[in-house]
Amino acid sequence: LVSRKGHKEDTVVVLPGDITVGGLSSLMVAGPCSIESELQTRTVAAALQKAGVKVMRGGAFKPRTSPYDFQGLGMDGLRILREAANDHGLLTISEIVDPRHIDAALDYVDIIQIGARNMHNFELLKAVGEVNKPVLLKRGLSATLEEFLHAAEYIMSRGNTQVMLIERGIRTYEKWTRNTLDISAVPILKQESHLPVLVDVTHSTGRKDIMLPCAKAALAAGADGIMIEVHPDPATALSDAAQQLNIEEFNTFFTDLKSSGIYR
Ligand code: PEP
Ligand code: MN
Repeated sequence: LVSRKGHKEDTVVVLPGDITVGGLSSLMVAGPCSIESELQTRTVAAALQKAGVKVMRGGAFKPRTSPYDFQGLGMDGLRILREAANDHGLLTISEIVDPRHIDAALDYVDIIQIGARNMHNFELLKAVGEVNKPVLLKRGLSATLEEFLHAAEYIMSRGNTQVMLIERGIRTYEKWTRNTLDISAVPILKQESHLPVLVDVTHSTGRKDIMLPCAKAALAAGADGIMIEVHPDPATALSDAAQQLNIEEFNTFFTDLKSSGIYR
């Protein structure tokens, strides 16, 4: 079902408000790593609206490496994200990690994110395959492209055709970036499948100083959109403090990306 064979047309996922992913225009998804408070979330939402961004991200169920790190605000976080987004005309995307949370989350998220750590969680993939809501599927930390497309197939095989893929970097021996952004994944996924493909420049690089060239490269390679993390005061962030852009940095990033002519 994910394969390009027998499916020549690109799939266009239509979000509420007729916002399209995989069509003629690029999609910018921005927002904090974690939803931390109403003030933090509303500050970002206001900035995104002003910048012309349409989809806001924010983690409420955080899959952290250490069990002692901030785990997210859970359902309260989803409610905070939804209210801030509604007040600023934004759509919401947030990661769901447990099939038992899906039903309750449907009121709060316009797109369900499946995180890199859960790309191989087949019961979760089947569960989101049964809902009528777009899913953004992240590539696993060490997943091959074949495994990535099989994970998407799990979702689609249960009936949900609204699937978007996102390259978020893979584990290699390289230490100067957080992960290795596999730019070749973009044209390969576009050739092998008809699904929209996005690139997460935050988790792939972990470096603010190269996010702009990496976003340009992603779009030049055929990506349908970019995900990036934005926080009002990254130094105090409860997760990913080192790599979230502040609002001014985001505005510069987005302006530069748009003026490059590659962002459609
Ligand atoms: C995220 O986008 O919030 C996240 C945890 O990313 P990943 O699953 O790619 O590590
Ligand atoms: Mn993050």
